[in-house]
Amino acid sequence: EAVVYWMRMEDLRTCDNRALSRASAQAQKDGIPLVLIFTVSPQDYVAHDRSPRRIDFTLRNLADIKAQLASLHIPLYVTVHTPRRTIPERVVALLQGWKARHLFANIEYEVDELRRDIKVCELAKPAGIGAHFVHDRCLVDPGIVLTKNGRVYTVYSPFQRNWLDRLNSNLKWIEEEPLPLPNSEDIYFNTTLKALFDVKIPDHVDGFECKDRETMRDVWPTGTEAAKQILARFLHTKARSTQMGPSNPLSEGAESSEKKARALVYKDSRDKADKDTTSRLSPYLAAGVISARECVRQAMKLQGLNKIQATRDTGLGTWLMEIAWRDFYNHVLSAYPRVSMGRPFQEKYANVKWEVNDEHFQAWKEGRTGLPIVDAGMRQVATMGWMHNRLRMITATYLVKDLMIDWRLGEKYFMEILMDGDLASNNGGWQWSASTGTDPQPYFRIFNPYSQSEKADPTGDYIRHFVPELRDLRGPEIHKPPEKVCRKLGYPLPLVKHEEARQRALRRYKNPGEE
Ligand code: FAD
Repeated sequence: EAVVYWMRMEDLRTCDNRALSRASAQAQKDGIPLVLIFTVSPQDYVAHDRSPRRIDFTLRNLADIKAQLASLHIPLYVTVHTPRRTIPERVVALLQGWKARHLFANIEYEVDELRRDIKVCELAKPAGIGAHFVHDRCLVDPGIVLTKNGRVYTVYSPFQRNWLDRLNSNLKWIEEEPLPLPNSEDIYFNTTLKALFDVKIPDHVDGFECKDRETMRDVWPTGTEAAKQILARFLHTKARSTQMGPSNPLSEGAESSEKKARALVYKDSRDKADKDTTSRLSPYLAAGVISARECVRQAMKLQGLNKIQATRDTGLGTWLMEIAWRDFYNHVLSAYPRVSMGRPFQEKYANVKWEVNDEHFQAWKEGRTGLPIVDAGMRQVATMGWMHNRLRMITATYLVKDLMIDWRLGEKYFMEILMDGDLASNNGGWQWSASTGTDPQPYFRIFNPYSQSEKADPTGDYIRHFVPELRDLRGPEIHKPPEKVCRKLGYPLPLVKHEEARQRALRRYKNPGEE
């Protein structure tokens, strides 16, 4: 007999994990062992454009978790399963083989995953297995923050205010979940369960070999302890100017001239890409290696308040508002399944006419557009699997509004290359940039990439770091190198003229379907 917790790609941790805590409590109550499973589903990874980097990150976190749990006599069984349609049958068959009484898992809000879990419930019931799916991903569970008319917010600011009120009146929602308790050593007398300890975590998934695995392992260390240190670094230490990467967030660079810790100056520094000002926690939050609750609890400790202050008045408050964006996009995802299905949130933009230009798309991906800030951002993500938020906005808006290439191609490419690739935030960010989403940038307010460049990289250090061809340029030339300088340095000329491209975008958005 057993109680099973089914771990997923978004909850790769043993501490502060709701479904795991509940599974453990149930196992203790019933006096039977707790068993963990994880299903590797290559077909899902293809369907969801999963990046090999993220798969590798998943496998190494699983290996870390398996080792931790072994000391508690809890097995973690990782199984590769195809086809993805029959995962529910496979999981329920495994549970039956172990005579499991209960299955626990954290809910995944994406459509395919919800359908899969519904099928699991349908199969579990006649098999006499209690299936328990709980909310864990957000600080406030989807379905709770609603407008006066009982609808899910599609505009961030009122959502955030209501979200904050809810959270502050229910601080128990962010209390830490208990750690799983050890199994009795009797588990080793059960030969079926004992055998699970010996099953190795796969080293890779076919078709998802991570080409720069060593670099990624260096830049993004494995495990919850590393994530907690990265959080502490953000909350308590000053930004260093040499941290543009690819470099491990924990390997601090040269002394910094900043006076205060990153978190305290975040309000004013977050949009600067030429310093390492943000937390770089996104890969850990996306994979659930650390919980959003832990981030908020630690931030509250630093604020020294007995309620959460998430307002633009302070650095830390501004950061907590970013964490609220993560909840916002997950709430949107769970309420509007169409965002998981490649459709614009605002249906009126479904027919905007896009350019089909593979040459331009490749140049964008490879950081050869002739626009230094865009090229720097695209090269950053190519080398380290992460890009600064402001740069994500600039590069995405450039692809969509300047090159007039379908935002879905950009969304897919980001998923394939990011270490923090996450459907809700990535889709939200892309639809924001493409002006097709919930609370988007209005289509007629098109970023000027040159002035954005000056704001995001005032020193030019960011561009010089990632676009070494331009490393000798100083002053305004770094943002817009003159034609003859480009020719001399072997740097490409701009693919399009921004003003002409802007006019084309305005025309096409105004009259979707027309040239
Ligand atoms: P910090 O500034 O330290 O913020 C802390 C945390 O808050 C982040 O780790 C993240 O979990 C959350 N957060 C911050 N900004 C946002 C936001 N705008 N939307 C949602 N959550 C946010 N974020 C992802 O996690 N995965 C993605 O796939 C992703 N794709 C994006 C695509 C585009 C086009 C854009 C514009 C944004 C995207 N973002 C995505 C949001 C944001 O860029 C990253 O979360 C952020 O840059 C991560 O860096 P950080 O951890 O240092 O963030």
